[in-house]
Amino acid sequence: MTTRRYNVKGMHCASCSAIVTKKLSKVEGIREVNVNLATEKATLEFDGNALTSEALNDVVNKYGYFLEAEQHPVTLRAAVTDSTKMREQKEGELHDQLRKVQFALPVALVVFVLMMWDIGSMFLHALPHLPISMELLNILFMLISTGMVFRTGAPFLHGIVMFVRSGAASMDTLIGIGTVTAYLYSAAITLIPPIKEFLHAPDSTYFDVTIVVIGFVLLGKYLEARSKMKTGEAIEKLIGLQAKSALVQREGKEIEIPVEQVRTGDLVIVKPGEKLPVDGTITTGHSSIDESMVTGEPIPVDKTVGDKVIGGTINKQGSFIFTASNIGPDSVLARIIRMVEEAQGSKAPIQQIADKVAGIFVPVVLALALLTLLIWLTVGSSYLGFSAALSYGIMGLVGILVIACPCALGLATPTAIIVGIGKGAEYGILIRNAESLEKLSSVDTVVFDKTGTITTGNPEVTDIISLDKENNPTSLLQLAATIESRSEHPLAKAIVEAANKQGLTLDDITDFKALEGVGVSALIFNRSVSVRKPMENEKKGAELQQLQQEGKTVVMIEENGRCRGLIALSDTVKEEAQEAVAELHRKGIKVIMLTGDNLMAANYMAKQVGIDEVIAEVLPHQKAQKIKALQAQGKRVVMAGDGINDAPALAQADVGIAMATGTDVAMESAGITLLKGDINKVAQAITLARTTMRVIRQNLFWAFIYNIIGIPLAAGALFPIWGIFLNPVFSGIAMAGSSVSVVSNSLRLKRKKL
Ligand code: ADP
Ligand code: MG
Repeated sequence: MTTRRYNVKGMHCASCSAIVTKKLSKVEGIREVNVNLATEKATLEFDGNALTSEALNDVVNKYGYFLEAEQHPVTLRAAVTDSTKMREQKEGELHDQLRKVQFALPVALVVFVLMMWDIGSMFLHALPHLPISMELLNILFMLISTGMVFRTGAPFLHGIVMFVRSGAASMDTLIGIGTVTAYLYSAAITLIPPIKEFLHAPDSTYFDVTIVVIGFVLLGKYLEARSKMKTGEAIEKLIGLQAKSALVQREGKEIEIPVEQVRTGDLVIVKPGEKLPVDGTITTGHSSIDESMVTGEPIPVDKTVGDKVIGGTINKQGSFIFTASNIGPDSVLARIIRMVEEAQGSKAPIQQIADKVAGIFVPVVLALALLTLLIWLTVGSSYLGFSAALSYGIMGLVGILVIACPCALGLATPTAIIVGIGKGAEYGILIRNAESLEKLSSVDTVVFDKTGTITTGNPEVTDIISLDKENNPTSLLQLAATIESRSEHPLAKAIVEAANKQGLTLDDITDFKALEGVGVSALIFNRSVSVRKPMENEKKGAELQQLQQEGKTVVMIEENGRCRGLIALSDTVKEEAQEAVAELHRKGIKVIMLTGDNLMAANYMAKQVGIDEVIAEVLPHQKAQKIKALQAQGKRVVMAGDGINDAPALAQADVGIAMATGTDVAMESAGITLLKGDINKVAQAITLARTTMRVIRQNLFWAFIYNIIGIPLAAGALFPIWGIFLNPVFSGIAMAGSSVSVVSNSLRLKRKKL
């Protein structure tokens, strides 16, 4: 199986993306097609190897679309150039559109005013008749409208040609058929008097309608394209973070080189106020670094020898040297950009309704328009006579074709997703895909892993208690640290650190074993020693209970099957934990803590931060089952953890939130990754998800309602009731407004504070 991404050119509306999807899905060897109108990208999944771009283009070219395989950027710079090129291309297209609008709109406005004046003077006697003869005006309008239809409105004509040739119809086809019908009818009764007589047609023509509709629809398309460009700004901001050059030490000399020439292992020099060119680890010096642009963390972070730094962040006062690592596509920034881009192109489940409608929208509207004309000609003409009915019928047909707008439907979801996911990235909330965002909006339970999530994850040894005469606290600590020096567990690190502080030397060990979620064991000089959590039957001891009640984690040191002593460790809850839990409560969300630690210590911590429920003494592999059990109760669960030993639980939850620390972005098992493990961001992410989904629902509602009300109005539904008829000109204006309003509504998300 192969997955490839393509840039798609020539798509204007949801019917276009529906056509591309449909045609490509039929091709043998293509398993799945995802076409995104807002990003103008297609993701194809092939059964085997990818088909060639030529083969794919053979399929879509005849409908007016072009695919271009996305170059997988080798360096971030390449990605930058790529996206700059794309941007320039789009800006070029936008500029062409603007030039058309600058010509068409003033003309349309003048014609519009004359039209309104003419209509007004029929009803308002105070308003004088137009000071131009109707014949002259009609000829003038005919000339302008000929130019409009055949030059300015050429894309719409192209839509008709496409329809005739291949049966595929898009929004352009609708506008094309609408305006051309109005134009041809008017031209026929103006230029060929026998036709006019035969139809008993009235004097009035629809040249003005053609002009105004094309003018406004072009304006709408231009505004829509312009706002659509704005939705992608978050990515551009990220790309813009990349530094251009780096100062490195090579052969004892300091040289300035372009950033793409930096190699892994290079020593990079960073001066005060400078941008870090690449990722790496500090080798000399220390400083505080502003990482807000990447992680969303507003307070600068102090870093010293051994700490990891991220390319694109900004050094404050100090200066330091670091060893470069993760160059190019592996860098933190490149990975973030890739993840955000992919997520922005993914489809939210809610979009399925809109996609289904868009797929059949155009043929249905065409049929409705024809039906309307037919009804006017039959039912209408029996009341009004043939000529009046024909003229209303044409108006109805044109109005329907013009007002029906699949664009708004197509843009409703993806534009909001793009803005929402981009906004998340600004806050250091990386969202894997639109589906995660949609699911997150409806969760009602948040489960936090204890260690490293609610607590800092840096416990300290507080008590060492010897339980026999052979050992004193120092020898116990030495024994425990000897084994724990092999373990990566936070408790192990704390014990080793305590031993180091006392200057203890550690013995050699053999046969080291780690039992996840329980403890460690090894052989020291043929004695079998273990450091582990107390078993059920060992929990009664008074010392043990006392320590646990103080919220401490207690481990036992066992030698040759006999318990020799206890070490108590205490972890501190994160400063922001209480506020984060309170914020989740305000959102009506239940907060649960999940831990492998003992119940008493866990309860103590939970009480401190206001957590509702504790699930303790859970082995790592049982964590996913506990999540499953909550889901079985009908809860929609977020699991937030460090993603290290709780990956299965993150994957099991409706949404897994990984609290990344440092530079490990984009965890596979998590739907959302929080850069900088700030748990306040869990609530922020939920706010973002809820707001984005609300915007999507509004968008879909307006897009549907607009069509549901607009189409009957344009057909003349009000005529039998009140005798009024919606002039197609207003259909044009409404159509222009509809997609613009959807995109603007999505852009509103940008200003929302999380
Ligand atoms: P958490 O859910 O808090 O991340 P774990 O599942 O990692 O906890 O561990 C559960 C318990 O197992 C710890 O509280 C500790 O008592 C014991 N334990 C695990 N690893 C070790 C170790 N390396 N040394 C001592 N005790 C350990
Ligand atoms: Mg853990």
